[in-house]
Amino acid sequence: MSKVVKFGGSSLASAEQFQKVGDIIRSDAGRRYVVPSAPGKRFKGDSKVTDMLYACYDLADEGRDFGRELGEIKARYQEIIEGLKLELDISQEFRSIEENFKAKAGSNYAASRGEYLNGIIMAAYLGYEFIDAAEVIFFDEEGNFDSDKTDKVLSARLAECQRAVVPGFYGSLPDGTIKTFSRGGSDVTGSIVAKAARADVYENWTDVSGFLIADPRIIENPIGIDVITYRELRELSYMGAGVLHEDAIFPVRQENIPINIRNTNAPEDNGTWIVGSTCQKSKYIITGIAGKKGFCSVNIEKDMMNSEVGFGRKVLQAFEESGISFEHIPSGIDTLTVFVHQDEFVHKEQKVAASLYRLARPDAVEIEADLALIAVVGRGMKSTRGTAGRIFSALAHANVNVKMIDQGSSELNIIIGVANDDFETAIKAIYDIFVLTNL
Ligand code: ADP
Ligand code: ASP
Ligand code: MG
Repeated sequence: MSKVVKFGGSSLASAEQFQKVGDIIRSDAGRRYVVPSAPGKRFKGDSKVTDMLYACYDLADEGRDFGRELGEIKARYQEIIEGLKLELDISQEFRSIEENFKAKAGSNYAASRGEYLNGIIMAAYLGYEFIDAAEVIFFDEEGNFDSDKTDKVLSARLAECQRAVVPGFYGSLPDGTIKTFSRGGSDVTGSIVAKAARADVYENWTDVSGFLIADPRIIENPIGIDVITYRELRELSYMGAGVLHEDAIFPVRQENIPINIRNTNAPEDNGTWIVGSTCQKSKYIITGIAGKKGFCSVNIEKDMMNSEVGFGRKVLQAFEESGISFEHIPSGIDTLTVFVHQDEFVHKEQKVAASLYRLARPDAVEIEADLALIAVVGRGMKSTRGTAGRIFSALAHANVNVKMIDQGSSELNIIIGVANDDFETAIKAIYDIFVLTNL
């Protein structure tokens, strides 16, 4: 049995947390490859080391003094080293970090030091080999993850060692400079390592007992999900269920390696299994709910639009010319609505509107801001009638005005558009109808 175990920031925020992690790893000989994040928050209101590194590097980049800030970061690691009673001296590491900051090595390099240093500590604590992710995880010239090269080099390297620590979140570009994944990217590293190790399971240890039906910051004590498919999970994580990075399923999915989300603070809980496919029914018609705020809708009206060949292409070209990607495009007979991210769109709205009039000659274009999108996801919805109807009536009951409802062709998800201000109320109403009352 070979397992890859990734531990998130809160699981490694202090020496105490490291000890829990050590116990978890030592309790199962299969836990051979460990992917740590940088230390996260120790308590509410604390800072994540990654955020401290970004802020510290910003000072360096502006040519300002950053001695105190770097000292605070060093203290975070020192506290862990001392708490674990390790004979480990990181002074030399911090001297080179300081030099590289002064030489403006870049914010990617800066952020990556969070996992790099935690990896060194973890390897010393466990007595495992340390493998610098820069030597085994690669990006191409364009900055895209280079899956083939990585898999070749990393699998050969792992085959040489029984037990190793590979820090999460970063790799290197062809010229050797450090590049990170997007925030939360240690989940992606864990998946890459699991694939390269041809592991039996990828365990992702965090601070909740698995994937919950809804965001615990919105629903109090939501019920956990026992089993979820890669596709369902992708829909939920893309739509903001932050527990796992949205790209983390791709590497393991190629090898059909299951992901098991577990809680470092409650290791006896089974957590959630994320699998390729399953005959297990989910407890409820829906598997999960997630959502994001901050969208705009661009509603384009034109009589007889449906019979105009190429109308959709012209509309999308107007967005493409401004480099804007779209999120959803529900359509009616004479209307088509394009949902876009507000922060990307807001500076370019007039340019897009002008392109729309030039290319598609609509009768009217109407823009609405401050919208949220909610995804209701479930493999069980395919075989159940009336799910959309139930969502509608639950939302009407809660006085939420539904701006849009769109059922994906896979029948795996229903996307609902509401005002940002109605976001939490809408999620609560959907949770109530499908989970609490279990209709
Ligand atoms: P880590 O540091 O271990 O990577 P994250 O903070 O990235 O952990 O992810 C775990 C957090 O995700 C939880 O503490 C929880 O607040 C949040 N979260 C959001 N949606 C969900 C969900 N549907 N299920 C579980 N947790 C969720
Ligand atoms: N430390 C990084 C972040 O805070 C990566 C991670 O934790 O996955 O985004
Ligand atoms: Mg995370």
